[in-house]
Amino acid sequence: MILILQPNVHAGTPAFAAIMDYLSRRPGISARVQQVTGAQQTLTEIYLIGDTATLDREEIAELPGVEQVVRVSREYRIVGRHQDDFRPGGFDYNGVVFSQDSFDLFPGLCAVDNREHVDRTFAALRAQGLRCARMGAYKPRTSPYAFQGHGGACLPFVFESAGRHGVRVIAMEITHEKHIQEINDALSAVGQPTGVMLQVGTRNTQNFELLKAIGRQQEFPVLLKRGFGISLEESLNAAEYLASEGNQRVVFCLRGVKSSLGDPHRNLVDFAHVPVVKRLTRMPVGVDPSHSVGRRDRGPDGIEDIHHAAAQGVIAGANLVLVDFHPAPAKALVDGPQALTLEELPLFVEDMQIAREAYLKRRAAHERARMPAQETALADAES
Ligand code: PEP
Ligand code: MN
Repeated sequence: MILILQPNVHAGTPAFAAIMDYLSRRPGISARVQQVTGAQQTLTEIYLIGDTATLDREEIAELPGVEQVVRVSREYRIVGRHQDDFRPGGFDYNGVVFSQDSFDLFPGLCAVDNREHVDRTFAALRAQGLRCARMGAYKPRTSPYAFQGHGGACLPFVFESAGRHGVRVIAMEITHEKHIQEINDALSAVGQPTGVMLQVGTRNTQNFELLKAIGRQQEFPVLLKRGFGISLEESLNAAEYLASEGNQRVVFCLRGVKSSLGDPHRNLVDFAHVPVVKRLTRMPVGVDPSHSVGRRDRGPDGIEDIHHAAAQGVIAGANLVLVDFHPAPAKALVDGPQALTLEELPLFVEDMQIAREAYLKRRAAHERARMPAQETALADAES
């Protein structure tokens, strides 16, 4: 059971103390308190664990200071979308709102190679009016001999350049908890010109100690990739790890699953799961067409598979697209074959806008179909 408190009720207030006192007198129940910073406000939530079936929901809902009582109807207590759960999901980070209704593109380098490429990439994003990007500094590689990323050394120029080009949020994978401090220190050293969304890569979706460390910090939101070889449920539990440690600002990102059935694509594209994740949880959902498809092939219709896959995710309601771009893919140190060029960015943006508009139109059509006949006539008369 989850108790959502009224906005002015939090630890230290008399109403909070009275609620905690009430709960402490229920045997077999323990309470965990979390501050939840959403897009509009910060709320205090109390998660009750134990034999909650014995609790009187109506009585608790009447306690002064309690706004709403939610019965947990899903395994994911915190990130789950429960029955009668009307809490708005989503969060605001560095001036950008992420929710199940938002839409942002995160194009950029799979791996930072040099200053010039970073700068040119951010400049291209600015020319398109984009405010989010991807940049890899710490790269988990299959081979120990492959380029592992420039790590902390590239952070100052990446952050400085992002700030100069008005980029507000950079998705950046970390592979060790010490990278959180490195990113924090680098941002402080250059005056916080931008923000970072910590990315958990598909190889680390079940690295529980890393998840716990990222969940414990409140500084940065998280982009969690679906695990490439585990069930959706297992990946959603990874999101719950982050949230149960205190960080609920999580975007879940589909990126395909490893299977030879996806051949010739690098992974089997799983973007039909966009609405599934939105239904099971309150997290914004992203898609990564680059690591799903993994190659720049074009269909007989003249459209690349990466564009098609991205559009499939967006037309199904994805809130974010993480996509590899590079000024000179042939020179990229990681994943060049799947990178689109900066000259192709305007077309990608246009294509994604078309898909987004189509999604919004589909949604409106379905809403109209659900309206009773009288309301439909009224809506038609107004339009
Ligand atoms: C990436 O986004 O750079 C990446 C390595 O993706 P994934 O973890 O999904 O393979
Ligand atoms: Mn990559």
